[in-house]
Amino acid sequence: MDLTFGCPHCKQQMVVDATGTGSQIECPGCGQTVTVPEASMTNIHTANPIASSAAAREEKHFAVPVHDAPAEALIKKPNKPLEVAAKEAQPQVRIKCIKRTDCVEVGHDRFDEVVSKFLGQLDQEDIVVIQPLAYTHMDIGTRALLTDYGVMIVYKG
Ligand SMILES: [Zn+2]
Repeated sequence: MDLTFGCPHCKQQMVVDATGTGSQIECPGCGQTVTVPEASMTNIHTANPIASSAAAREEKHFAVPVHDAPAEALIKKPNKPLEVAAKEAQPQVRIKCIKRTDCVEVGHDRFDEVVSKFLGQLDQEDIVVIQPLAYTHMDIGTRALLTDYGVMIVYKG
């Protein structure tokens, strides 16, 4: 006579010869040591469909972490562009203002020359914007306020 019983740990259904009652066997499902029950206790048989579905549900639960793994990878991915952005933002935006009066040497207006020289030191890609600059200054000779111009260069460096 064979006994059919379910493993108390994993619900694995096992068929054991009646002479095995009371002996300990290793469950083929979970590897736990299981004591073979008395013949009278083998009515677990009827509960087996439920037990097996419970086991199936358990398997699904175990499968969840597997699905989590790629999700974590997806969360990590957006971090990379941020790091790249931080590296790109490293060069500071600087402003260089060149006033025309600062470029006048011994009566010669070297404004264009000075601006050209400064721009020549920059990479064209680093130049953000070049804006005209208007300012007033007091003429030393006449003590009058004069409006003059210059240029403001916004660049990365
Ligand atoms: Zn088991």
